[in-house]
Amino acid sequence: MELNKTVKNALLDEINRGVISHAYIVEGMAGTGKRTFASLIAKAILCTGENRPCGVCPSCRKCDADTHPDLHRYGSDGNSFKVEAVRDIKRAVTLTPNDGDRSVYILEKADTMTVSAQNALLKVFEEPPKGTTFLLLAEKRESLLATVRSRGRTVRLGTVDDGELYSMLKERFPKATEEELSEAVRIAEGSFGKGESVLKKEGKTERGAALKLCDAVYGRGDRYDLYSAFLGQIRKRDALIPVLDALGQCARDVLISKLDAGKPTLLTEEAAARHAEGATAITLYNIFDAVLECGRSLRRNTDPLTAVSELCTRINRAKG
Ligand SMILES: [Zn+2]
Repeated sequence: MELNKTVKNALLDEINRGVISHAYIVEGMAGTGKRTFASLIAKAILCTGENRPCGVCPSCRKCDADTHPDLHRYGSDGNSFKVEAVRDIKRAVTLTPNDGDRSVYILEKADTMTVSAQNALLKVFEEPPKGTTFLLLAEKRESLLATVRSRGRTVRLGTVDDGELYSMLKERFPKATEEELSEAVRIAEGSFGKGESVLKKEGKTERGAALKLCDAVYGRGDRYDLYSAFLGQIRKRDALIPVLDALGQCARDVLISKLDAGKPTLLTEEAAARHAEGATAITLYNIFDAVLECGRSLRRNTDPLTAVSELCTRINRAKG
């Protein structure tokens, strides 16, 4: 699916022809790269070189370093977009740009804006100061007032294919190795946000722990071996849920390897096949189900020792 590349190229082409809207609504589910996309568009709008964004002019360099005085970001912290932020924006737009004749406002999580915040913003949208562009990032544009929606151009982002995700991540993490990039693409399943967090090493420890646990879960050890493998994790209570989530992803990988139903995401194909060997699909399904149930149980605040003990019992029963 070349969706985002097509959207991106069309938009950049317009900007290079001087066609710049004063408001864009960048819509896409979590992890579709809205923020990266908006940053690129902002950079192109502010670029003073040829073939925008040229990447080498002073403006592009400031955008890359996130120090451009005319690129304003709001809503990236906290959970909802407050009316105070809109007041700040209204104040800021009355000022003339510092560097050139354009200024760009990126409003993240714009769909979390309250109705009064949106109404306050509408005023600016109705009479935008010359050279001002707003980029509103939203998971669902329907959460925005119809009056706000009608004043901006909607750009839809979808999940991306592996090849595109690879190039997006390579651009974002130029120092990452081929191996790291491929691993991130595999785990991310088309989500830029997820790929980004893999390369930032977020959850690496938890994924590592889950991979180790797989040996105990699918190995030939007895109930005691299994339980002692989990014991080390129970001590790190806060990390237990992410470990179980990663283990759930592994268990799904093993199951789909058995059923030949797709590519594994967290495990390598070899590891998934090795764990699936000698077990029936129903056994693997029961293990997968037990891991998911353990995660749910922990989220309901079940005592970790009880939840894990139940998990081990279920895994052993599944293995027969
Ligand atoms: Zn430039």
